[in-house]
Amino acid sequence: MRYISTRGRAPELGFEDVLLSGLARDGGLYVPAVWPRFNAAQLEAMKALDYNGLALEVIRPFVGGAIDDADLKAIIDKAYATFETPEITPLIELEDGLFVMELFHGPTLAFKDVAMQLLGGLFDHVLKARGERVTIVGATSGDTGSAAIAACQGKEAVDIYMLHPKGRVSEVQRRQMTTVIADNVYNLAVDGTFDDCQDLVKAMFNDTPFRDRHHLSAVNSINWARVMVQIVYYFHAALHLGAPEKAVSFSVPTGNFGNVFAGYGAKQMGLPIKRLLVASNANDILARFFDGGEMRMDGVVPTISPSMDIQVSSNFERLLFDMLGRDGNRVTETLKTFRDTGSFRIDKKLLEKVRETFDGARYDDNQTSEVIRNVYDTTGMLLDPHSAIGVAAATSPENRDHDGTPMVVLATAHPAKFPDAVEAASGVRPALPDRLADLYDRPEKAQDIANDLGAIEALIDETQSQNVPAR
Ligand SMILES: *Cc1c(COP(=O)(O)O)cnc(C)c1O
Repeated sequence: MRYISTRGRAPELGFEDVLLSGLARDGGLYVPAVWPRFNAAQLEAMKALDYNGLALEVIRPFVGGAIDDADLKAIIDKAYATFETPEITPLIELEDGLFVMELFHGPTLAFKDVAMQLLGGLFDHVLKARGERVTIVGATSGDTGSAAIAACQGKEAVDIYMLHPKGRVSEVQRRQMTTVIADNVYNLAVDGTFDDCQDLVKAMFNDTPFRDRHHLSAVNSINWARVMVQIVYYFHAALHLGAPEKAVSFSVPTGNFGNVFAGYGAKQMGLPIKRLLVASNANDILARFFDGGEMRMDGVVPTISPSMDIQVSSNFERLLFDMLGRDGNRVTETLKTFRDTGSFRIDKKLLEKVRETFDGARYDDNQTSEVIRNVYDTTGMLLDPHSAIGVAAATSPENRDHDGTPMVVLATAHPAKFPDAVEAASGVRPALPDRLADLYDRPEKAQDIANDLGAIEALIDETQSQNVPAR
């Protein structure tokens, strides 16, 4: 399988290089040169597979022989051995025809574990085969950092430095990072904001000698392999609910558009997906786009679903590329307009076309709390605020399908990850799962550091110089 950039001016890459490199050199995102497709007989045969077997079938064409099947299966098995449920992503019927797929049974209680656990294994395998090591640096406001750390801890070919804004991440999220005591994990508590942390990471990547010296790498949400791995659970749900004979719809709590784009990918691969609901909080740039065809930047307001507090969605570029006929020049021009003027617009015909599959919806904090309360009162199920927004979109009268198509809401976080918001809405404080019950008693390891590029680079230089063998 070859991968091409959405801006059309970067070299084509194979799977291993796409895995290890983030952004393409022309500033674009990598996508498969063609979407692999499964026919009805192949889909039918997948019904007999368990989650890991299904993951192998779905991922195999994207890996394209870069890793042999036995190794790939072993990496998948190891990744999902960390999950608490044998189904990996269990489906629960909330009411007739409405299902919740729980994606939060991994080590850090959010859906990012599903992709990140596998990514950690893939990185380690590919790097060892090449005799290379990388230093992953990242900035986090919570979920991504903890999932990345859980995925990289103890991996021989990887060191990870995660920057978080000191005192500005929730206690659960901080502890999920800082209680990982592993030689290759460095938690840096930066005296600054999340934006400062992001700027520091960008500056490290822009410091070419530093970047080359440490083989810097990232596992951020634009990494193709994360999207690829997320495609699997769309197959898992749809095959359980009647595909390939019957279509299924999904409601997806959305921030950077990585998760819902995976659903679009599944549809391109032949899975009968009828609709994809893009569910947003008050930061509703996507909902406005799917309403009227205009993407217009606005400020970011903090909400009780912080993992969806976004200004622009980085993975949307992948959909735009397909919408614009896979023409890298048109993508480049459109995004230049967006950068220069803060908005761009697509024409009516194109909007109609995307609306055949996608629709947007937005819910503010009050509406979100109301859904948490209602669902708890009627079913006893506690939803986290992100998942609640997915349920809100799925159950709103204008989005309800009346032709019997099942609707699956992706539950992206465990309620105990956002205990304050859930308690305020429902009156019940969600308990951490048993294996994390002592999270608040575990020792923490983090290093305070100034909001200063020189200080952080010096720390990385020093800690890396103690690592043998030298790279
Ligand atoms: C990251 C995240 C999201 C948003 O997912 P995208 O792929 O960025 O759209 C939603 N909910 C939770 C809990 C998350 O951690």
